[in-house]
Amino acid sequence: MSTPTTVRTRIAPSPTGYLHLGTARTALFSWAYARHYGGQFILRIEDTDVARSTQDAVSQILAALRWLELDYDEGPIYQMQRLDRYREVIAGMLAAGTAYKCYCTPEELDAMRDAQKARGEKTHYDRRWRPEPGKVLPSAPEGVAPVVRLRNPVDGTVSWDDLVKGPITIANREIDDLIMVRPDGVPTYNFCVVVDDWDMGITHVFRGDEHVNNTPWQINIFNALGAPLPLFGHVPIILGDDGLKLSKRRGAVGVMDYAERGYLPEAMLNYLSRLGWSHGDEELFSREQMVQWFDGQHLSKSPAQWDPAKLDWVNAHYIKRTDDQTLAGLVAAQLARRGIAAEPDAAMQRMCALYKDRCTTTVELADWLAMYFADVAPSADDLATHVTDAARPALPTLRSKLAAIEWSKPAIGTAVKETLGAHGLKMPQLAHAVRVLVCGRAQTPSLDAVLELFTKETVLARLPSA
Ligand code: GLU
Repeated sequence: MSTPTTVRTRIAPSPTGYLHLGTARTALFSWAYARHYGGQFILRIEDTDVARSTQDAVSQILAALRWLELDYDEGPIYQMQRLDRYREVIAGMLAAGTAYKCYCTPEELDAMRDAQKARGEKTHYDRRWRPEPGKVLPSAPEGVAPVVRLRNPVDGTVSWDDLVKGPITIANREIDDLIMVRPDGVPTYNFCVVVDDWDMGITHVFRGDEHVNNTPWQINIFNALGAPLPLFGHVPIILGDDGLKLSKRRGAVGVMDYAERGYLPEAMLNYLSRLGWSHGDEELFSREQMVQWFDGQHLSKSPAQWDPAKLDWVNAHYIKRTDDQTLAGLVAAQLARRGIAAEPDAAMQRMCALYKDRCTTTVELADWLAMYFADVAPSADDLATHVTDAARPALPTLRSKLAAIEWSKPAIGTAVKETLGAHGLKMPQLAHAVRVLVCGRAQTPSLDAVLELFTKETVLARLPSA
């Protein structure tokens, strides 16, 4: 195996569902770290849980990484395509005596645990199949497929200096002889991860806190293989705004849910990066700045809090800064989901320019733009409140003035003013009524700017002629 000289990080999702926000954040940290140090970022698909892994989940993970533009230099590498390699490593460990076969049946293991519990002991594997000098092993029973276990050291400790949590030490006597290959011959997570991280020359492993208990085993496997150890950084979990672990039951946890809900990838990246990492007081920064700043320092030990209001604030910031052409493309896609066909043309781009400052998501932007492409249905309340007896007679006047003009914002403004004069009305009296009828809502930006973006025909069709 080559000795890596550059930083090599990886993300290793299991394709059992969408890309979880927590995994996306780990991917972001791993990616940014590799980019900061001019190294490589690798995508590995951990699909050895055959029953739960699906191709659809792989596609979703790839789509989410593409959406976030977390580009990888190698991969996707599929574990199920590496089974021969795992077998080879296992054979080597069996030959070297760092692994052994265990023929315990599930029933025997249950009985072992029950007996330990009855004696008030912590349950553990009693190493009955572990070869020792001078120990006579039972003879292998017929018809029982063995598992392969790691011959974990019994003395001493496993230690590492976690990139996030600092120094961690575990006594080896706390650790069982890990099952590395199941009876069906498929190797287990902790074993495959080590072989992969070794073969792929991974130098830095960032992953979720939930794996911290696996790391002692993995280090012992690295040591058994004589492989160089990567550095490990266990990133704290993300808590929902209710203080509980973020989960599907309590809101969206899939990255692509946020794409659907009108969040921008740059906003997601910016927001995710601040969950467990900081650079001074900086809250809003570009992908490039993050790469420049992400040197592995200032990673927080405490759980991060998911804050939907902050995400909205960050997204609103990026919506304002996104060019109208890009926004129009996104809004057209949002409208298409509602069955509204609309081209992201120059006209739509001007609509985006008019409304984007008041929107948090492209879904909200689509809420605004829908009135230009589909019928509106003013509520009975709005009609009663705003289309008043005072305003009603002015509406046909405005309509005929608009019918006569060359369609432009100043000409619309003049037609509105003349109508106010002719009927002795104040601007809000007329403007609210027109808004409700044409836009389906009473509050909008300035009337002439809003109307100009409709076709004249649409406005005339929505105003009464008598
Ligand atoms: N497949 C594991 C997960 O999705 C990867 C853990 C690791 O990065 O080692 O949690």
